[in-house]
Amino acid sequence: MDRLLVSIVEARDIVLAECGPLAPVTVALADSVGCVLAGDVISPEDVPPFANSALDGYAVLASDTTVVPVEMPVVAEVAAGAAADRPLAAGEAIRIMTGAPMPPGADAIVLVERTDRLDDGSRVRIHETVVSGQAVRNAGDDIRAGTTVFTAGTVIRPAVAGVLASVNAQKIEVVPRARVAVLSTGDELIDDGSPLGPGQIRESNKTMLLALVSECGADAVDFGVVRDDEAALEVVLREAADTCDVIVTSGGVSMGDFDVVKAVLSRIAEMQWMEVAIKPAKPFAFGRLRNTTGRRVPVFGLPGNPVSSLVSFELLARPALRQMMGHRGPLLRQGIAAIADSPLRRGTDGKVHYQRVHGEFGADGRYHVTAGGPQGSHQLAASAVASALAEIPDGDGVAAGGEVFVYLLTS
Ligand code: AMP
Ligand code: MG
Repeated sequence: MDRLLVSIVEARDIVLAECGPLAPVTVALADSVGCVLAGDVISPEDVPPFANSALDGYAVLASDTTVVPVEMPVVAEVAAGAAADRPLAAGEAIRIMTGAPMPPGADAIVLVERTDRLDDGSRVRIHETVVSGQAVRNAGDDIRAGTTVFTAGTVIRPAVAGVLASVNAQKIEVVPRARVAVLSTGDELIDDGSPLGPGQIRESNKTMLLALVSECGADAVDFGVVRDDEAALEVVLREAADTCDVIVTSGGVSMGDFDVVKAVLSRIAEMQWMEVAIKPAKPFAFGRLRNTTGRRVPVFGLPGNPVSSLVSFELLARPALRQMMGHRGPLLRQGIAAIADSPLRRGTDGKVHYQRVHGEFGADGRYHVTAGGPQGSHQLAASAVASALAEIPDGDGVAAGGEVFVYLLTS
C-alpha cells in the first residue's frame, strides 16, 4: 500500500481541508457554553434597561449639595426591583440601594458612607458635594438596543453567556459540538479489570482519547475496545459513522501484519495512509467513511503507541475537531517561544521531534522548559505530566539557553 510521506503541516492541511464547520443548530443558552456563535447577536434591549444607582446611598439633586454639610428630609426609600412611589423635589433626598431605578427628579447619588442618618432615618445629613450624574448608571451604558453585541465566531465563554442572558438571548445559534466516536483496537487490550493473561496489556488510549475529546469541547462517545477482527471492526465503524460526526480509532494503522484497522478502512472508506515526518506519531491515517445516509464521516486513524496517540491527537485531530466546531482562532494549543533550561537532545533523522517537556513562566516573563523524562512512545507516564510539547526541528537538538517553540498542553 502506498503511503504518503508528508510533513506535519501538510498532514494537517489535508485534514483541515476536509473538516469544515458543522451545520449550525439552535440551542438553549444554558447548552451553548463552550460553543461558537454561528451568527451575530444583536441586542433587542438596552442594558441596563433603565437609569439606576451604582451605590447604596441617597438620590438627590446635585445642585442641593453645593454647600455641605447639608440636611434634608428623606421622603422615600427605593430598593432594587422596586420604583420610588414619588418623584424627588428640590431639597429632598430618597434613600436608594444599588441597582434601584433613579427616582424622577434626582440626578446624582451620595454614597451612604458620606452621610449621617438622623431622626430614625427620616432625615439625612450629607457631607459630600456631588455632581450631576455621579454614581448613576444610565440606560444602555453597557449595551445599546440594536447594536451587535457579538459577531459570528465568538466563543461562548462564561462571561459571554452572561451577556447573552442580559440581552434575553434565550435561544442561540451555534456550531454544535462534534459527536466523536472513540474506539481502540487490539486483541491484547484489557479494560475490564481482569487479570492479565499472556501478552495482554491494560487499555489506555481510549480512556485518554475520550478525555482529550471532551477537553476540546466535543462530545465523546465510547465505542469500546474492538478485537483484531475485520468483521467485528466493520460493524462498529459503520455504527459509529451512522451515529457520530467523527470517528477516532487508535491502533492498527502501521505496517504490522495484524493491522486490521488498515485492512478494513482501506476496503470500506476513502483513506489516506500517511507517514508524517515527526517523532513520535509517524503513522497516521485520515479519510472519509460514507454512512447509510450518504454523509462522509471523517475518520482519524491514530497510532497505537500511547504517546504517539496523544501527540497525533494534539497535532492533527484536535485542530480538526475545533475547526468542525466553528473555532477560527488558533486551532492548535497556545504556542510560545520558550527558553530551554536544559539541553533538549535529539539526532538528525529528517523529522520534527515533539518532545514532552516540563515548563513554567519565569520572573523574566519567559517560558522556561526542561527535558521531560523518558521519551519512548510507550512511556506515557512521563508524558502524562508534561506541561508542553516542544517542537524540535531536525538536527542535533537545542542547547541549554537556546530558544525552542512549544505548545502549552495546559492552555
Ligand atoms: P498497533 O498500532 O496496534 O500496532 O499498536 C502499537 C502499540 O501500541 C502496541 O504495543 C500496542 O499494544 C499498543 N496499543 C495499541 N492500542 C493501545 C491501547 N488502546 N492502549 C494501550 N496500548 C495500546
Ligand atoms: Mg494493534
